[in-house]
Amino acid sequence: MTHRPLPSIIALLVILVSACNAPADSSSSEKSSPEPYEYALVLHGGAGNMNFQSVPEELQNRYKHVLDSALQLGLDVLKEDGTSIDAVEVVIRCMEDNPLFNAGKGAVFTSEGKNELDASIMSGQDLNAGAVAGVTNIKHPISAARAVMEQSEHVMMAGKGASVFAEEVGLEIVDPSYFYTERRFKSYQKAIAKDKHGTVGCVALDKAGNLCAGTSTGGMTNKKYGRIGDSPIIGAGTYANNATCGVSGTGHGEYFIRWTVAHQISVLMEYKGYDVESAAREVVEKTLAEAGGEGGVICLDSYGRPAMVTNTSGMFRAYGNSEGERVVAIFK
Ligand code: ASP
Repeated sequence: MTHRPLPSIIALLVILVSACNAPADSSSSEKSSPEPYEYALVLHGGAGNMNFQSVPEELQNRYKHVLDSALQLGLDVLKEDGTSIDAVEVVIRCMEDNPLFNAGKGAVFTSEGKNELDASIMSGQDLNAGAVAGVTNIKHPISAARAVMEQSEHVMMAGKGASVFAEEVGLEIVDPSYFYTERRFKSYQKAIAKDKHGTVGCVALDKAGNLCAGTSTGGMTNKKYGRIGDSPIIGAGTYANNATCGVSGTGHGEYFIRWTVAHQISVLMEYKGYDVESAAREVVEKTLAEAGGEGGVICLDSYGRPAMVTNTSGMFRAYGNSEGERVVAIFK
């Protein structure tokens, strides 16, 4: 990728504000001469309908602190010439370790009272991808997804076989009780199906101009045993292509799968010349919303420009780039 002069803070703010607030434009609206960042990273910690009352200020501050720390971890990797794949894995592992999120420790429970986790990762350089689905004892599902991508000839592995493979490649295996948290168990006991916030995702652009996207989740509270959501499905919850963008989604997975949300955003850019923001808004605010699918996406284009779009009232999210520009936000 050719790196040209860097954009002003004002240009970035315009992109960010319009990504969350401006009305959707269905036509192509390529911004004049996009200016690339040396590196950039965007992440999410789930979307849903929430407000200041449902998320007390103290909890908001905790979320913001974790989002900001995870963002910094990823930016540090990119600054030190690390790859976008390394950055995505580091960020998602950090969020998988934090019980605030519905990924790794803190994952929601199935209708049988178990934790079944899904994750995927995709490299925009070569369209290589890896995913694990319905795993119960891999501490960091995102690392297992990466291992499937880099150390197997497959794209997706599920259940027991995925765990055996993860152990073989040296990943940490835990007792399934490791994923238990009281908060999620209470949600499950009360069958609060709405308690699905907290899937995590990340998209990074490294100095070599390569995009990577990844997503990790416990799925939806009270989901049926064996149910697989969109998060481990390439093209639904995760997608990356250097020619267009990287995308990680969060929301009602059954809709993201049927409307192939992540890939649709890429396709609108590739075939219709949309910019990343218009493409994300078209799919999330129109297609998905009209179908009744709640959720949001975070995206980066090949210049490191973000789109953070949700059709819910909130999405835990953060963005930063090589210019030191930084956004951490929860509500729309
Ligand atoms: N998309 C996830 C799933 O359906 C859940 C979420 O992102 O909240 O499994």
